[in-house]
Parts: sequence; C-alpha cells; structure tokens
Amino acid sequence: MHSSFCPPQRTLMGPGPSDVSPRVLAAMARPTIGHLDPQFIHLMDEIKSLLQFAFCTRNQLTLPVSAPGSAGMECVFVNLLEPGDTVVVCRNGAFGGRMKENVERCGARAVMVDSPWGETIDIDAVEQALKDHPQANALAFVHAETSTGVRSDAQSLAALASRYGCLSIVDAVTSLGGIELRVDDWGIDAIYSGSQKCLSCAPGISPVSFSDRAVARIRNRKSRVQSWFLDMNLVMGYWGGGSKRSYHHTAPVNALYGLHESLLILHEEGLQSSWARHKNCYQALAAGVDALEINLLVDKSYRLPQLNAIEVPEGIDEAAVRARLLSDWNLEIGAGLGELTGKIWRVGLMGHSANQKNVRLFLSALGSVLAASGWERKVDISQSLAAAANVFNDAEINR
Ligand SMILES: *Cc1c(COP(=O)(O)O)cnc(C)c1O
Repeated sequence: MHSSFCPPQRTLMGPGPSDVSPRVLAAMARPTIGHLDPQFIHLMDEIKSLLQFAFCTRNQLTLPVSAPGSAGMECVFVNLLEPGDTVVVCRNGAFGGRMKENVERCGARAVMVDSPWGETIDIDAVEQALKDHPQANALAFVHAETSTGVRSDAQSLAALASRYGCLSIVDAVTSLGGIELRVDDWGIDAIYSGSQKCLSCAPGISPVSFSDRAVARIRNRKSRVQSWFLDMNLVMGYWGGGSKRSYHHTAPVNALYGLHESLLILHEEGLQSSWARHKNCYQALAAGVDALEINLLVDKSYRLPQLNAIEVPEGIDEAAVRARLLSDWNLEIGAGLGELTGKIWRVGLMGHSANQKNVRLFLSALGSVLAASGWERKVDISQSLAAAANVFNDAEINR
C-alpha cells in the first residue's frame, strides 16, 4: 500500500532547485506556529530586513510572495500595469517570453526587443525602442536568463529606463545571491526572485521589492489589481502593518523558516564572498570543460557563473548522457529549452551547490559517461580535474 516518500540523495546541478543546505532543511522541520503569533511576526520582520540586505535596497515594500518565482513575476506585472499601458520587453530566452505573456494578460501592449538565444540584450536596440514608443511606461528584462546562461547589463538597462521615464522591471530569479545585484544603486523599480536558485532554499517562495516610484504607481492605479491574492495594496497590510498585522492569507510558515535560514547563511558569508565563490566555481568548471575540448555556448563577457550552457558535442545523445548522470551518479543537470533543445546541457552552480566538490563531481561524471558512450574523442578526466584544481589553487593563493 502507501508509504512515506523518501527521496533519493541527489546532487542538484541543474537550473534549479539547487542543493538545499542541511541547515535550511533543519529549520523547515521546526514546529509550526500561528502566522499571527508575535514570534512569527518578529520572524517576518527579520526576513524583510534580510531581503533588503540581499537585494541591496532600503525599499519598504520588500517581502516574500507565498508562491514560486512565476508568481513573483506575475505579482510585479499585475500590480504595476493597467490596461492600455505600453511596456518594452527584452527577450533573449524563455523567461523574456513569459514577461510578454504577463504584459499581454494585463491588457497592456508589449513592444518586444528580441536578441538571439545565447546573446545578451542589445542596449542600443532597447534605447531605439524607447525612442520609438514614447508612451511606454515600463521596461522589463531578465537579469540572469536561466534558459541560456546569459547575463544582461542590468545597471545600464535600469539607467536607460529611468532616462526615458519608465519603471524598470527586473527578473532576478537566478541572479539574486549569485552575481552582483544592487537594487538601489542601479535604480531598479520592481524586482522578483526565487527561493530555489542561488538562495538554495526549497522551492515555493518569491522575494519581491518595489521602489517608492513603483509603490506610487500601485497606489495611484485607476483600475483594481486583477489578482486579489497578489494585490500589494492588500498584502502591504499583512507584511507592513507592524504589530497591527491583519489576516490576508496564511503564510507558508515552515517554508519561511527555511527562507530565513537561507538568507541568514548568505548574510554570514557576505554578498561579495558569495558572488566571488560562484565566479570561482564557474572558472574552474569552465577550465575543466575546456580541457575535455567541449565548448560553452555563451561569450565569456556575459556568461552567468551560476548557469553554464555547455554545447553537446557532435555525435553525442544529449538526453542519454543526462539520464546516465542521474542514474549512475545521482547528479541532476538540465536540458536545453526551446531552440536549444538537444544542443546544450545546463549546469547550475547555484548557492549551496556552488562548491569545489560539485565541480569535481560534475567533471568526473561527465568525462566518465562520455567515455562510456563510445565517444570517438579521447577523454582525459585527470587533465580536466587538474585544470579545475589549478583555478581553485590560484584562488587560494590570491586570497
Ligand atoms: C526559475 C525561473 C523563473 C520561475 O521560477 P519558478 O520558481 O520556477 O516559478 C523565472 N525566471 C527565471 C529567470 C528563472 O530562472
């Protein structure tokens, strides 16, 4: 009959979720208390201040939406947009396409600025679109395109938005904690993230933050926010009401214990150290992959350290390799999406998963599986591991 579910022990090096730290898992197993308990309200205040730290912002409206990253995305769009608005949307992968969906479902018009998958967002093309559509009141883009492993220049894009009188809307689901991100310094107006990528918490929570300009837009809407659950005017009374918090919905209490612990871990490490650790692990992984004579898809200047798009070599069955990594090595990596299906593997080095052991595990596993697959090229795993070790050693020496 039925029995308890005991998941296998995997190493998660895909596009998310990433490995969850034992500290976070332990936090989530603590006793559930009421979501209006004074102790819980104290925890909510701490989560808010830790999120302000992680986003580098003093925005008052900074909170975790009780649902995954996609809900954070939806939250930002439904609160800021009204029917008839025009939004310039940058699309260079799957998640830019989802932004378009959200804009249109709000009854607004999406002016698309497309770049090929694997390329970064073309700032000049964005500026041209803003010039051509002076009625646009928002610019939306993805900071870390998880479908391709591309970083966009969020600082320049946010500055452009402000120069053209637009609010900047930023998808930071994969960027938060993994690469430099400064909401206040860069003038970002609305941003959403996810718990399960570089924060290494369990999936299901989406941190969001809104600037004062964005809050003014929400307060001065002509129409009601189409979603009751995500209406920030109502949620603000719950997350921002001080000791007078009123019931809006039941917060996912234990999930928030986990988020708190994961943010605490980030705070203890420090943002700069976390960004540096992700970069170092990526450089070692890239050196090891290069030693196997396999290419990375994305140009060096805008690669994401936390998501590596590795080109599948000629004659290799993409899905078969991924299946072997999972079955023989308990190692999860991701497949390509959309037009990159079958052409790339997506290897995540996110949060708790970005460590030396995982880099070495991945290189050993990939090398072994390729060798066993009858690949015509000679696979030298020890050379690949040595290339990665050199990067780690150099980082130690320079510390
Ligand atoms: C994962 C991801 C999302 C969606 O987050 P979910 O938690 O899966 O809903 C949105 N945008 C980007 C860039 C992502 O990587």
